[in-house]
Amino acid sequence: MKSFTYEKVSSPAAAASAVVSNSNAKFIAGGTNLLDLMKLEIETPSHLIDVNGLGFDKIEPTSDGGLRIGALVRNTALAADARIRRDYGLLSRALLAGASGQLRNKATTAGNLLQRTRCPYFYDTNQPCNKRNPGSGCAAIGGVTRQHAVIGASDACIATHPSDMAIAMRALDATVQTARPDGSIRDIPIADLHRLPGDTPHIETTLTSGELITSVTLPKPVGGTHIYRKVRDRASYAFALVSVGAIVQRDGTGRVAVGGIAHKPWRVEAAEAEMPHGAKAVAAHLLEGASPTKENAFKLSLVERTLGAVLTEAKG
Ligand SMILES: Cc1cc2nc3c(=O)[nH]c(=O)nc-3n(C[C@H](O)[C@H](O)[C@H](O)COP(=O)(O)OP(=O)(O)OC[C@H]3O[C@@H](n4cnc5c(N)ncnc54)[C@H](O)[C@@H]3O)c2cc1C
Ligand code: SF4
Repeated sequence: MKSFTYEKVSSPAAAASAVVSNSNAKFIAGGTNLLDLMKLEIETPSHLIDVNGLGFDKIEPTSDGGLRIGALVRNTALAADARIRRDYGLLSRALLAGASGQLRNKATTAGNLLQRTRCPYFYDTNQPCNKRNPGSGCAAIGGVTRQHAVIGASDACIATHPSDMAIAMRALDATVQTARPDGSIRDIPIADLHRLPGDTPHIETTLTSGELITSVTLPKPVGGTHIYRKVRDRASYAFALVSVGAIVQRDGTGRVAVGGIAHKPWRVEAAEAEMPHGAKAVAAHLLEGASPTKENAFKLSLVERTLGAVLTEAKG
């Protein structure tokens, strides 16, 4: 592990000034992803800015009937919140499908959104990886690709985004609030937060340098049956091969977002019009343009079958 300095900040202004005066600084929240990456020298910040003292740890109602979730709300607290369980069950279920109890006790809302891929070649520093080392190549292409993306990938990177929580946030149309070092604030629809890899897979989000996530807002509840189904190699402590987060209304209409298949939470709003016609029709639209490898082509039918199971469960 490379040496680094550490500072705990107590206001967004202090966080901004720390980030401006240290060009190679990183925010740290729960540390459950960043510290692992630092131990492997995949991330090598020279300065850590601990944001845990910023007080962004509340879940509060918004004026239009939604909820504002502080960036530092722990995954455990978010999943257990009575309002989340009642009105945004999809989010609670997705959170509980992720990691382990111990990890969820530390992991934060912002950190979860910004966790990095679990591509094994990204973690193996002996292998070329455009995400870890831009321009070095991609060891996954032509390698073992069972876990990798089947849609939205590029010739530079075929990694997937690993977050379960982000899939629920995408289906719920969440908005991310941020503060920039110059004092400006902005709202980013969750659909626009994560990027597809293109030829710059090391740039994973639309956040700019030093931009701090302060909260995530959920719009007012939309009702319906909320289901999160995650298919993985082990029953716990494993990332999704495919996951489906769905909100299904009584008339069969609804929303669906899919995890484990792309560099970002995958949702195609136009495909949702097909929901009353069944999983096959939705999957056909949702996966239009997919280009799987021989090893991960099974994900296409797995999406359809998982979605089929979700729609059947929703019918009760
Ligand atoms: C063994 C294991 C199994 C796991 N299994 C799953 C799983 O099944 N599903 C799943 O979804 N996740 C899983 N995870 C990932 C886990 O959910 C994440 O590590 C966690 O959510 C990250 O949150 P954190 O607060 O610890 O982030 P940190 O590690 O502190 O930070 C992560 C990134 O976010 C940035 N950051 C943090 N806060 C802010 C902020 N406010 N503004 C801007 N940037 C910020 C940091 O700079 C860093 O780049 C697993 C992790 C482990 C170790
Ligand atoms: S798929 Fe992406 S993360 Fe994995 S080795 Fe290739 S460039 Fe790196």
